[in-house]
Amino acid sequence: MTSSSERPLLFLDVDGPLIPFGSSEITAVSSTTVDQGNPLLARLDPAIGARLTALHCQLVWATTWMEEANEVVAPRIGLPKLPVLEWPDADTGGTPRGLHWKTRPMIEWATGRPFIWVDDEISAMDRLWVDASHPGPSLLHQVEPAKGLSDTDFRVLAGWLDAVAPS
Ligand SMILES: [Mg+2]
Repeated sequence: MTSSSERPLLFLDVDGPLIPFGSSEITAVSSTTVDQGNPLLARLDPAIGARLTALHCQLVWATTWMEEANEVVAPRIGLPKLPVLEWPDADTGGTPRGLHWKTRPMIEWATGRPFIWVDDEISAMDRLWVDASHPGPSLLHQVEPAKGLSDTDFRVLAGWLDAVAPS
């Protein structure tokens, strides 16, 4: 039995994977049905938290929502409070051109441990950077932002986890 601290990390973006951008009609509907806060929250799938938990990864928010992901997203999808990836400090070199701001902090967090990154904004530069700087297994999984995390995405994630860290 593997403890949760040894399980792969899963760095999770919000806009795109959990809040699909969808069509303009959806925007029109949700802005009238949600009475407060961000109308995009109506696009969250309340059941998706359970599916993410079932992957048996250590989930980490990697999103510009930062701590707000714990305050407004997690409760709506049935996730507990999760650790949050911090925006890199400009004093430590900031973010090299062409690299996502999340990439270096994720590698530092993982310290060689297997990790998944679920995002709709993964570039070739990010993949090169991870290949060169992260000694362990990694899966940089690009989600189609119009649809959000789909059954197909979950199959890919589960398949990778079965190969890398069978539970
Ligand atoms: Mg995004």
